[in-house]
Amino acid sequence: MSEIKNNWSKEEILNLYNKPMMELLYEAATVHRKNHNPNQVQVSTLLSIKTGGCPEDCGYCPQAARYHTNVEGNDLMGVQQVKAQALRAKASGSSRVCMGAAWRNVKDGEEFDQVLEMVRTINKLDMEVCCTLGMITENQAKRLAEAGLYAYNHNLDTSEDYYKDVISTRAYQDRLDTIGNVRKTNVTVCSGGIIGMGEKVEDRAGMLVALASLSPQPESVPINALVAVEGTPMEEIEPISIWEMIRMVATTRIVMPNTQVRLSAGRTDMSREGQAMCFFAGANSIFAGDKLLTTPNPDVNQDMEMFKLLGLEPMKPFAKKAQPESVEAEASQYKPLGEKPRWTRPGHTIERNEEAKAKRKVTK
Ligand code: SF4
Repeated sequence: MSEIKNNWSKEEILNLYNKPMMELLYEAATVHRKNHNPNQVQVSTLLSIKTGGCPEDCGYCPQAARYHTNVEGNDLMGVQQVKAQALRAKASGSSRVCMGAAWRNVKDGEEFDQVLEMVRTINKLDMEVCCTLGMITENQAKRLAEAGLYAYNHNLDTSEDYYKDVISTRAYQDRLDTIGNVRKTNVTVCSGGIIGMGEKVEDRAGMLVALASLSPQPESVPINALVAVEGTPMEEIEPISIWEMIRMVATTRIVMPNTQVRLSAGRTDMSREGQAMCFFAGANSIFAGDKLLTTPNPDVNQDMEMFKLLGLEPMKPFAKKAQPESVEAEASQYKPLGEKPRWTRPGHTIERNEEAKAKRKVTK
């Protein structure tokens, strides 16, 4: 196993990122082989359990209520519906179900209780359960852990500097605080970001500094390529090249040797050769299913063909950490506290976000 370094500087990371490609690939692949089986890839299914209508203003997101996109909002799904989808995902080779709700933060009440029941139900199917529900308090993190949650996703998205150009409705520190709350439990942390949002390479390095300095480092780091959706503030941003994705994956692998590096949104635009290079550079997880929350994703059969072609095999559930137990609601030692935490509202304005919001008024 490689030694973990938590004090990477931005310069050190930039030096890695900008290495000649063959050297970067060789170094990343060497770190990867030392710490992981290079022929195993963890497969997750992302399920949008509550879509659209989000009060936040994330510039990349079609689920923000304020932008004019074609995303149709849905209320929270029922437990049985989620169970049926999880069983389908399991049958097609997924070892993890990640449930996403378009919320700013979790509020104690019936809906959260329903999510806790979903966590118990999927854990009992012997699948890893992940949730991405927005900001959560320590008590909410403990309730999720007690229900049997395996991972909590909360992306840093980009560097702290560039964050202010992407989102104005919450601060970077809020993200770190939620990750800190998850760390007070046994739930693993999944946190990564998006490249191709108009950020500089320095911002990509800045995000990796922030993630790598978390101690322990996140068990999972998704690397997304922006999928520019019509109606969002970033609709006109050109897609990044596959080479940038490969560099980002390779650099992430080197600075966080033990983590699962997830190839996430943007895979539909990548060739098989491009994805193969990402796996070689250290990516060892993908999201399966034809949709990633609301944006397109390669279908499961295509992915399985690619796995066959490359000799990859889906990782078994709980290969990295033992399955948590699920405590039933009646036996819970944590009660809802009805907290109203003061998550930040920085209140600055982001021009392109305001423009996208104004467009909505004109077209309605
Ligand atoms: S990324 Fe999440 S928090 Fe931001 S607008 Fe979309 S659903 Fe809301």
